[in-house]
Amino acid sequence: MYRVSVTSGVSSSGSVAFDVLVIGAGPSGSAAAAYAARLGLSTLLIDAATFPRDKTCGDGLTPRAIHQLNKLGLGEQVTSDYSNRGLKLHGFGGSVEAPWPDSPFGTQGSAMPRAGFDNLLFEFAQSHPEVTTWENATAETPVFTGSRLSAVEVNHRGQTHTVKAGHVIVADGVRSTFGKKLGRIWHRNEVYGIAARSYCASPQSDEPWIHSHLELRDEEGTVQPGYGWIFPLGDGTVNLGCGALSTDQRPARVNTKKLLSFYASQQREEWQLGPEEDVASALLPMGGAVSNVAGPNWMLIGDSAACVNPLNGEGIDYGLETAELAVELIGAHPRRDLTLVWPHVLKTHYGEAFMLARTAARLLTYPAFLPAMGPLAFRGPLRKAVMPAAARLMGNLITDGDRDILARGWRLAGSTVTAARRGSPLWNSTV
Ligand SMILES: Cc1cc2nc3c(=O)[nH]c(=O)nc-3n(C[C@H](O)[C@H](O)[C@H](O)COP(=O)(O)OP(=O)(O)OC[C@H]3O[C@@H](n4cnc5c(N)ncnc54)[C@H](O)[C@@H]3O)c2cc1C
Repeated sequence: MYRVSVTSGVSSSGSVAFDVLVIGAGPSGSAAAAYAARLGLSTLLIDAATFPRDKTCGDGLTPRAIHQLNKLGLGEQVTSDYSNRGLKLHGFGGSVEAPWPDSPFGTQGSAMPRAGFDNLLFEFAQSHPEVTTWENATAETPVFTGSRLSAVEVNHRGQTHTVKAGHVIVADGVRSTFGKKLGRIWHRNEVYGIAARSYCASPQSDEPWIHSHLELRDEEGTVQPGYGWIFPLGDGTVNLGCGALSTDQRPARVNTKKLLSFYASQQREEWQLGPEEDVASALLPMGGAVSNVAGPNWMLIGDSAACVNPLNGEGIDYGLETAELAVELIGAHPRRDLTLVWPHVLKTHYGEAFMLARTAARLLTYPAFLPAMGPLAFRGPLRKAVMPAAARLMGNLITDGDRDILARGWRLAGSTVTAARRGSPLWNSTV
């Protein structure tokens, strides 16, 4: 039962007060606002942008994301025009078809351009009477009373407002400019992604499979530690992009936009691709490689908490899930200090999977690893065991059996890698 309620509305001093302030109205923030509304909490959802707005993304939605959308009642709207049934992986002279496995999340995936997808979620949040939305509203300055975040100064259309809130959910995305002001640190010694996407016209836009090319070579023929993707959108276009994994020690020396254009040229004939439009690139912190994700009454969710799968760059489902978890926590324990509780919740739900995936992703950043392992995995004796597991990993649908395969793989690759990862900063609190 929520009891921290501050009186909603505008006070005589010009400040406004809500039960919950949500900063950022991407999928994570909009979902959080909708969940808060379901608990009857007065909620202010703000975003620096004006909707609809674009977001650099592959636009892919696994069954796990669709499952979350179903919980919000939005699954049908996202899958009615286009849905897919699995993933086709290509590379090193082979191809593997991996239907979405039978899992509690269902077997239907989709893909939808983010401008429309995010707008759908934003409007859905807005449709709740408990939710007030401010666009063109940037959270600028945190105001503390002791260690508690008692208010946030928000610049809304050029005017500064003091927003008081019982709880603040920070969903301000990959760079998390406001999160940084609260102490969020991104650990770039851990694997992160650099990726670019484009939209291309294609007559195969209705193809019910998403495609990933794991043998991603640059113009010099060097295999890059990442993959290219073609995600059909069912609207006459495909989302075509590529991403590479990087760490500070082994930075991916790659111009992603150039790599994308080369990848598109390789796929053009097969997919009858039109020119690459709206090319955009972005960084992706991954696998929980940030610390200081919570304070007494605030939590970081989604990309701001680096909740992105290190092996496939997928973050929408984690954004939707962490939104639900954060609001559940507020509802169940409205007075509890969240500083240690929220990292604990994140670790319980994602810690093991992220640590394993981060370790596997780190292996890919060793230049010799993919060229050596790729042919074995696609064509060699390991194919039958490894490729379906790889497909589930890429689809974010890992099973206990996959864990076994991965564990054996890591042992083969040298247990030192796993040992070295043990001390890594999964959402640690250092303040
Ligand atoms: C190239 C690329 C491809 C990807 N492909 C996929 C994919 O296929 N599938 C998938 O699931 N994920 C993919 N991802 C990851 C996915 O895009 C993110 O995980 C997802 O957008 C996270 O949502 P979010 O709501 O946390 O953050 P965002 O969607 O980034 O939303 C953050 C919002 O916060 C607002 N904001 C920022 N600062 C402030 C502030 N101070 N005040 C107010 N508002 C603020 C921004 O305007 C923005 O609207 C990809 C990422 C990249 C870069």
